[in-house]
Amino acid sequence: MTTMKNLSAKTSPGILKSKMLLSSLLMTTIASQSATARAVPAMDAIPAGIVDMHCHIAGIGAGGSGCFISPRMRRNWRFNIYLHSFGVSRRELERQGDHLVADRISASLAGSQFVSHAVILAMDGVIGPDGQLDTNHTEVYVPNEFVAAMAARHTNLLFGASVNPLRPDALERLVWAKAHGAVLVKWLPPIMEFDPADPRFIPFYKKLVELNLPLLSHTGPEHSFSKAEAALGDPEKLRLPLSLGVTVIAAHVAASGKYHGERGADRLARMMREYPNLYADISALTLVNNLGYLHRAVHRPEFAGRLVYGSDFPLIRTPLVSPWYSVRIPFREKFAIARHRNPWDRDVLMKRDLGSTPEIFGKWGQRFGVAAGT
Ligand SMILES: [Zn+2]
Repeated sequence: MTTMKNLSAKTSPGILKSKMLLSSLLMTTIASQSATARAVPAMDAIPAGIVDMHCHIAGIGAGGSGCFISPRMRRNWRFNIYLHSFGVSRRELERQGDHLVADRISASLAGSQFVSHAVILAMDGVIGPDGQLDTNHTEVYVPNEFVAAMAARHTNLLFGASVNPLRPDALERLVWAKAHGAVLVKWLPPIMEFDPADPRFIPFYKKLVELNLPLLSHTGPEHSFSKAEAALGDPEKLRLPLSLGVTVIAAHVAASGKYHGERGADRLARMMREYPNLYADISALTLVNNLGYLHRAVHRPEFAGRLVYGSDFPLIRTPLVSPWYSVRIPFREKFAIARHRNPWDRDVLMKRDLGSTPEIFGKWGQRFGVAAGT
C-alpha cells in the first residue's frame, strides 16, 4: 500500500508507536488464521449505489476557500498524513486551491465499484464568548459555503453542513444550509466544546426537526485532533435532541468510549430501545483501534435496522486501516481485498466480511435523494 510505504519514511514517535502496534497485530492475525475459516457471503450481497454518509473534506485556505487549519495542527504529525490521505500535497493546494481536495475525492469515488455518492462534511469550530469563531481554540474549520460549493461542483458529492449551536446566528445558518442542499448537520461536541444536553439548544433542535435535517453527532473518543473533551462524546448527551424528535445518528457507534463505567455502545443500545429516531453510523470501525466494535454492533439486536454506512474518509486511506489487522477476515479474503486499489471498495468489502448487511449499505440512499442502485 503506497500510503504505508510513503509514511514509513517519517519518524515521529506517534507513527513509530502505531507501526509497532500494527506489526504486533499483524503477527497475531497470521497466528490465528486457523480460527477464521468462516463462509464469506457472495459478492452480490453488496448493493450498488451505496451512499457514504460520513466523508471528511478540508483545506488550507488556498484559493479563498475560507478553510482554516491552526498553526498547532499544521505542526502536528497528523497534518501531513491527512494531506497525503486526501491525495494532495501542500504545494498543489497552494497552486491550484482547496477545491482540488474535492476534485480528488470525487474522482476516487467515481472509481469505486460500490459507493456512488459521499456526504462531504463541513466542520464548524469553537465559538468564543463574543459569538465569533475562536481561531485560538479551533484546529480545523471547514465552512459550509466551501462544502456547498464543492457539492454543487461534483454530482457525486452531497453537502453535509456543520453549525456550532453556540453561534448567535445558528438558526439562520441551518436555514441557509438547507436552502443550499444540505442533507444533514454534522458536529463534534468534544472538539467544538459544547454540551449537546444544554437546554439553550432547544430552538436549534426544533429547527432541525422543522427543516428535516438529521444530526450526525460524533460519539466516543476522538483521536483525530491534538486535544478533545472526552465527556462531550457521551451518547447520553443526545437525549435532549432525541426527545424533541430530531433524527440523530451517533457516529462510530460510540466505539471504544466508556462513560461512568458503562461502555459507549451499551449506552447507545439502551437508548435505541427508547428512541426509534436514533441511528448509528459504522464509520471508522475498521480502524485498527476500533476492530471488534463493528462485529459486535452488527450482531446486537438493539442495532437492527439502525446502522448506516459511513467511511470516515480519509482515515480509511491511512495505515490505520488494512484487512490484515482483522482476525475475523479469512486469509484469502484479505488478499482479495488488498488487491482493490479504491479505498471505498476496500472499506465496503472489509465491513461486509465483518458482518455488515446489504440493508446497512443501502439504507440512506433514498433519504438523500440518491436512489439505491444508480
Ligand atoms: Zn469523522
